[in-house]
Amino acid sequence: MTYGPLNLTPRLLMGPGPSNVHPRILQAMAMPCIGHLDPDFVAIMEETKSMLRAVMLTDNELTIPVSGTGSAGMEACVCNLVEPGDVVVVCVHGLFGERMADVAERYGAEVVTVRAPWGEPIDPRELRRALSRTKAKLVGIVHAETSTGVLQPLEEISQITHEAGALLLVDTVTSLGGHPVKTDEWGIDACYSGTQKCLGVPPGLAPVSFSPAADEVIRNRKRKVANWYLDLNMVRDYWGQSRTYHHTAPVNMIYALREGLAIILEEGLEARWARHKANHDLLVSGLAEMGLGLLPAEEHSLWSLNAVRIPEGVDDMAVRRRLLADYNIEIGGGLGELKGRVWRVGLMGYTSSRANVRLFLTALAEVLA
Ligand SMILES: *Cc1c(COP(=O)(O)O)cnc(C)c1O
Repeated sequence: MTYGPLNLTPRLLMGPGPSNVHPRILQAMAMPCIGHLDPDFVAIMEETKSMLRAVMLTDNELTIPVSGTGSAGMEACVCNLVEPGDVVVVCVHGLFGERMADVAERYGAEVVTVRAPWGEPIDPRELRRALSRTKAKLVGIVHAETSTGVLQPLEEISQITHEAGALLLVDTVTSLGGHPVKTDEWGIDACYSGTQKCLGVPPGLAPVSFSPAADEVIRNRKRKVANWYLDLNMVRDYWGQSRTYHHTAPVNMIYALREGLAIILEEGLEARWARHKANHDLLVSGLAEMGLGLLPAEEHSLWSLNAVRIPEGVDDMAVRRRLLADYNIEIGGGLGELKGRVWRVGLMGYTSSRANVRLFLTALAEVLA
């Protein structure tokens, strides 16, 4: 029995991730796998850390990619910052806020949730109210809610969190590389992302960054981190000067991230954000001409992920199946309470182009007709 080489049909990835990968990144991944302590690899690690700081707009020393997908980034932040009994306020306005609350609870946090309806951002006054009733150590919030397409403004949330003496944890999985994420300027203490959304790199790494205050909390824990693999007090030694072996870095994935970050910095952050906004605007106006609209109000809509209301009487699955079968276009369906009610159309990273928006609009019009 022989299996032969893999052979795949390329797809246009316009779902909630992964997004399409720049050919230059795929080429970088095909470079020889070298030792994870090889001096050449160590140089790539250093380059990657410094490029990550540039893309995350931070000077934070502890800025590294965690091995694992975006959820591993979430878990790394929570398990390193939280000790059993700590009060953690989690803002929930979609599926990923729910996930953060679940993770915090698993590490023994006393979780208090602040909620907003799916499709709307969190009202900072609700957070203020919650923080006035309890002494929280940490406030967690999702910047770009991929389940609803909502962009959460962070500056007021950050101010309220710090006035209450808590640290701010932000999920930037679907914003980093597509929307401004100003880690230092906005006072974010712990930030995590994932490679396969607006960074345009395959899934497998989760960039994280910790402010000096959050770093202190991690260094001065009373107990060991309950998760061995994600214990940053050990992982940091591998990424730091001592290069102490902890686990083998996914070498070729680091090449991919290195290349993806280089592409982002060559394009320029401002230009990249502007491209994501322009292609979102083009999609929104094209959809409007077809009588379609987004779930969130325009001022709260993400540029990277568009939650499109499915018109009355249209079969969600049938449309998505035809887009994939006849046009090689993948879009996402709704999650949880939005199942069958929205399509999630991603315009992330390399996928976010005028040509792709026009192709999608044409395909959707043909399928709906
Ligand atoms: C995709 C996503 C995650 C989880 O990332 P995985 O790579 O699927 O583990 C977390 N938060 C948000 C907002 C996401 O969009």
